[in-house]
Amino acid sequence: MKKKIAILGSTGSIGKSLIDIIKKDKKKFEIVLLTANKNYKELYKQSKLLNVKNLIITDTKGYNFLKNKSKKLNIHSDYKKLNKILKGKIDYTMNAIVGLDGLEPTLNIIQKTKIIAIANKESIICGWNLIIKKLKKNKTKFIPVDSEHFSLWSLINGQDKKKIDKLYITASGGPFINLPKKKFDKIKLSDALKHPTWNMGQKITIDSATLMNKVFEVIEAKNIFGVPYKKISILTHPKSYIHAIIKFNNGLIKILLHDPDMKIPIQNSLPDIGNKNIKTKSLNLKILNNLNLNTVDVKKFPLINLLDKLPEKSSLYETILITINDNLVHKFLEKKINYKRLIYLINKFSKLREFQKYKKIKAKNVKDIYRLRNYVSFKMNSIGI
Ligand code: NDP
Ligand code: MG
Repeated sequence: MKKKIAILGSTGSIGKSLIDIIKKDKKKFEIVLLTANKNYKELYKQSKLLNVKNLIITDTKGYNFLKNKSKKLNIHSDYKKLNKILKGKIDYTMNAIVGLDGLEPTLNIIQKTKIIAIANKESIICGWNLIIKKLKKNKTKFIPVDSEHFSLWSLINGQDKKKIDKLYITASGGPFINLPKKKFDKIKLSDALKHPTWNMGQKITIDSATLMNKVFEVIEAKNIFGVPYKKISILTHPKSYIHAIIKFNNGLIKILLHDPDMKIPIQNSLPDIGNKNIKTKSLNLKILNNLNLNTVDVKKFPLINLLDKLPEKSSLYETILITINDNLVHKFLEKKINYKRLIYLINKFSKLREFQKYKKIKAKNVKDIYRLRNYVSFKMNSIGI
């Protein structure tokens, strides 16, 4: 029987990579749902290519366009009616939505899927306690898609977390790893968008340039694997060949490496797939003999210091951090602030006294998270940038 699959955020970088893999194996998969925010043209193209009847598009213009386009398609404007859209439990869902808006769809779809692969790191960072409850209740299997976490997950392979002595995730260091600190003032948006090893959506590309992405990934790792912050370290590794290292208590150290191509973790998260769908390169001895791993230069990348102030237990403060960064990265993408101000303001807002109390408060439901996000955005606007 064909595996039934839903792809949330199918028009983005991760979503398209998954479509690329699946379209080569149409006999094995039936796509039952695709979703997007604004890009109705791509969504419509994908629905025709893979014969998908159910589409969700949140933007009104896109919704109206698709609604008029075809009577045969079931078009929805939100994620509230997943119970009606999906009959029974499907086999696999990929959540590849960008941003905190991905959390509600994650929570809503867990009960309708046997496996949920989550690339949407904002869900994992802000709503992990809500996600884990739903996963347990619905016996849904979770697979992390972020490459470092997919590697850690593969290396741990269900072993008891007590056996872990230390987790390491790698950072390419982004486009500025070799730039002298005195030149950071001159960084332009176009420089920050030129990632040396990964090809990703714009938002995460900027987070990779500032290394805020690694702050988020350490939180992600702490949540997923249940190990304290002091046991998680970041290593810079410009070649992006190694993704994770684990030192176990028995002295064994395991390293996972693969080419810097998100299709590798994405394909390996799929149920029952052959390995013929993506081209892989042979072992790269040149890189292996020149791995070049280092600790992060926090003088160049001061946002890494934010990790020192995070609460050990998941809290609403993570929502604050995600929201501050999200708002400011968008201002940077719109060229309303420069790189230096981006870093300064992320630091400034995250240290705001009023926000610190949230380090001791846990989200009871998704509304708590969204309400706080709105408040933080309001507060940032009222203070001004
Ligand atoms: P993109 O920006 O390329 O794509 C995002 C997708 O989400 C698009 O389909 C977009 O639709 C949709 N979307 C955007 N806003 C909303 C919204 N408010 N509600 C519903 N859907 C929305 O992102 P990426 O593919 O780069 O990243 C997706 C997630 O995966 C992020 O959380 C990112 O951090 C994570 N990730 C990505 C990696 C990568 O290599 N790209 C690597 C590791 C993690 P539309 O096209 O219509 O705007
Ligand atoms: Mg990553």
